[in-house]
Amino acid sequence: MRILPAPRNPPHDRNARPRPLAMSADTRAAWPKDVMTTEHSRPNRSGKPRHQDGGKPRFNRAPKPNHNHNPRRHRDEPEEKFIRRALPDIDTPFTQMGIDARVAINLPGLGIETPSPIQEKSIPGIVAGRDLLGLAQTGTGKTAAFGLPMLTRLLNIGRKPEPRTCRALILAPTRELATQIAENIDNYAAGTPIRQFRVVGGASINVQVQRLERGVDVLIATPGRLIDLIERGAIDLSQTGYLVLDEADQMLDIGFIHALRRIARMLPKERQTLLFSATMPKLMAELADSYLTDPLKVAVNPPGQAAEKIEQGVHFVNQGDKATLLAEYLSKHTDELAIVFGRTKHGSEKLSKLLEKWGYKVAAIHGNKSQGQRERALASFRAGDTKVLVATDVAARGLDIPQVAHVYNYDLPNVPENYVHRIGR
Ligand code: AMP
Repeated sequence: MRILPAPRNPPHDRNARPRPLAMSADTRAAWPKDVMTTEHSRPNRSGKPRHQDGGKPRFNRAPKPNHNHNPRRHRDEPEEKFIRRALPDIDTPFTQMGIDARVAINLPGLGIETPSPIQEKSIPGIVAGRDLLGLAQTGTGKTAAFGLPMLTRLLNIGRKPEPRTCRALILAPTRELATQIAENIDNYAAGTPIRQFRVVGGASINVQVQRLERGVDVLIATPGRLIDLIERGAIDLSQTGYLVLDEADQMLDIGFIHALRRIARMLPKERQTLLFSATMPKLMAELADSYLTDPLKVAVNPPGQAAEKIEQGVHFVNQGDKATLLAEYLSKHTDELAIVFGRTKHGSEKLSKLLEKWGYKVAAIHGNKSQGQRERALASFRAGDTKVLVATDVAARGLDIPQVAHVYNYDLPNVPENYVHRIGR
């Protein structure tokens, strides 16, 4: 129902009796001044009593609904923090391993449908409260392996963090990894009240100090900046019940061992700790000993190795500069066949159209192309009539074209193993 605003003036009533002229200016003049200040009882010009509060007469103005009123709400807290969402009724491989449905519901949209080996091996144990020592590299799905049980636990505890504390702490060696973890956690926690905050060097410490005053559910930090914040009294780890050390071997390589030893002493004994590392040097074993209690040990094989004769390279570029860089490479090798991998059908189509506009002989194969179109595109590519093939992983599965000299991973694959499939073993 729409509530229409009340008219500013009363609607004119044709049948109303003419107003008595006698109640005009002279009535006002006759009213003693001291009484005029108490307007409650003073009649208005129509002779009717004024509205109780003495203001202008009101005409059934509907009270404005106050969407923001929530007595339990802190001034700065987002409203949804206090909305209890119903638990979605879903049954997925992740809910079966004990992941909260409010988190699991976000996963298919992120391309996470079936658990990766590290997730399969570690999530049930983590959900049960075990510490974990995970030998796994980036690309194995380890962020979800520690992130999903963490969110499940925080949602089940359902408590707000105290000022200047965090309920879960994730330590990462670099700003880039911390950012990547933060993005993943945001995606997994979408629609829940759980919030993360990332503190890394190179960003304003004052802003971080200010934000930490309210406390945070999940703090993602590089060890150096965390120590700085602890020394300033901006954060205290006495209530951190869930700790993740990600890429611990890299943290040791960078020289964070002293920071990590100090941090270990500030954490409560009653906590759950997960440590992930790609390698297990001797120092790591010592660190693991000081942090973990009877850990579950999980190792996953690194993703398939690419053939050694393939030369690989990586460029860090802004999204907006990717197409230009690709064109630069394509122009250097105009006589050789190249496959460009995109992630989505739409993105791949758009890229192929752009390259065509720039004068390249391009064909595209993806899920939106008919079988006939795909076959014609491949035939022309194999024959060398088309030099560039833009493809998605799904469409390119099983392609074996020996003449291909260059593979461009324009978008990273959804599943790490696909990288090796793309470039060839
Ligand atoms: P990570 O090893 O955590 O850096 O994850 C690498 C990539 O794999 C991320 O883009 C994840 O979104 C993705 N990923 C994680 N788990 C799965 C899964 N079970 N299935 C498909 N992709 C996944």
